[in-house]
Amino acid sequence: MGEVWDPARGVVLGEVADSSVGEVDAAVERAGRAFERWRGVSAGERGRVLRRFAAVVDAHLEELARLEVANAGHTIGNARWEAGNVRDVLDYYAGAPERLTGRQIPVPGGLDVTFHEPLGVVGVIVPWNFPMPIAAWGFAPALAAGNTVVLKPAELTPLTALRLAELADQAGLPEGVFTVLPGRGEVVGERFVSHPAVRKICFTGSTEVGTRIMAGCASQVKRLTLELGGKSANLVFADADLERAAASAPYAVFDNAGQDCCARSRILVQRGVYDRFLELLEPAVRAFRVGDPADERTEMGPLISAGQRDRVAGYVDGSRVAFTGSRPDGPGYWYAPTVLLADSPGDRHWREEIFGPVVSVLPFDDEADAVRLANDTEYGLSGSIWTRDVGRALRVARAVEAGNLSVNSHSSVRYWTPFGGMKRSGLGRELGPDALLAFTDVKNVFVSTEE
Ligand code: NAD
Repeated sequence: MGEVWDPARGVVLGEVADSSVGEVDAAVERAGRAFERWRGVSAGERGRVLRRFAAVVDAHLEELARLEVANAGHTIGNARWEAGNVRDVLDYYAGAPERLTGRQIPVPGGLDVTFHEPLGVVGVIVPWNFPMPIAAWGFAPALAAGNTVVLKPAELTPLTALRLAELADQAGLPEGVFTVLPGRGEVVGERFVSHPAVRKICFTGSTEVGTRIMAGCASQVKRLTLELGGKSANLVFADADLERAAASAPYAVFDNAGQDCCARSRILVQRGVYDRFLELLEPAVRAFRVGDPADERTEMGPLISAGQRDRVAGYVDGSRVAFTGSRPDGPGYWYAPTVLLADSPGDRHWREEIFGPVVSVLPFDDEADAVRLANDTEYGLSGSIWTRDVGRALRVARAVEAGNLSVNSHSSVRYWTPFGGMKRSGLGRELGPDALLAFTDVKNVFVSTEE
């Protein structure tokens, strides 16, 4: 049994039974049998079933959002967006089965065609920071391509995934097509990796566990998508709209209490405007509204657990704090938004993913210096570039080694554009038009026309 907590109140919400290896094996066997039927369901019908699933999610949007507020401490505004994102991702990939076309390639003596064949049972492993969207980014394209799915939510946040499985049932997904198996990473997650009938792992989580999963998949040449950690840079050039850059910077890192792999947790500011930028940043950080996640006006809730709060505090203790925002008193895992000044790119808080509401600031001299410092990390997930010079924006966007960059904005995620990391931030891409293909293998068929 795993306890499930409300992180804003520091109280136990309930208990969820952990799945055993035997239960995982039974579920994978059911998913394997369901695959034989699901892959044969016509493209139009598969799309209709997914559209119905999206409609049922839409009808339960508020309920799902409230569940996430309680279990993950997400602000109600964010949680509504997250539940809406599940609906949108399902709707988007519901249009995919009819468009999953192969090619006809000219060859002598016959006809050559390619097919995008589904893989079989796909194992999706989800972290606690965005339980709903990250689950959907795996299961929606996997199902659309004709696979069946077993999904493991994070130990701390299983409630919305379990509810989504019930909603899938209600929408008429056939038995065994989508199964949620709560439980421990070392038990359920590792069994997904070692089970020969699980043909692909779609993992989001820490780089450490992702690296281990990659090694586990290697022995079976198991397909794999990895979405891992980040330490993304927010580059502010002297010619930028400094007011906008400073006003938006807190949202780029403190959203979801900084527990966001895309958090722009390193701010690089051109030296000539460094002091002015910090002057503008301070009131924006102090005004950031931290409090009850169920309150519509709240911009940041608590951290997920006491352990996470202690981890975050460990990076701040002994570091140079420029200024902080506020946090409520009382129970719950609260941490105030915090701005640290880096002494050098060697500082631990500058290099490591903190996964909390802490941002580090460092000055740079020129464009080359900015790019060098931005790339001086093992990660490469996202980043932002603030400048009014179009040429520079494009040069820097091409030079920064990250999968998702935004210019004069901090947006990272749209369900219809690709998302994923370079370097140790990941492998493969989710969302957008290409993600579907990562849940298929290309098959080439030659048909002789010789008499
Ligand atoms: P984690 O790696 O500890 O856990 C992620 C999931 O993997 C959980 O479901 C966990 O139970 C499972 N797991 C743990 N050990 C396992 C094992 N040995 N085998 C198989 N599964 C196992 O990460 P976390 O603490 O839950 O999440 C935070 C991390 O996730 C951060 O580092 C963050 O950057 C990363 N993250 C990345 C993205 C992205 O898209 N790149 C998105 C969200 C979170």
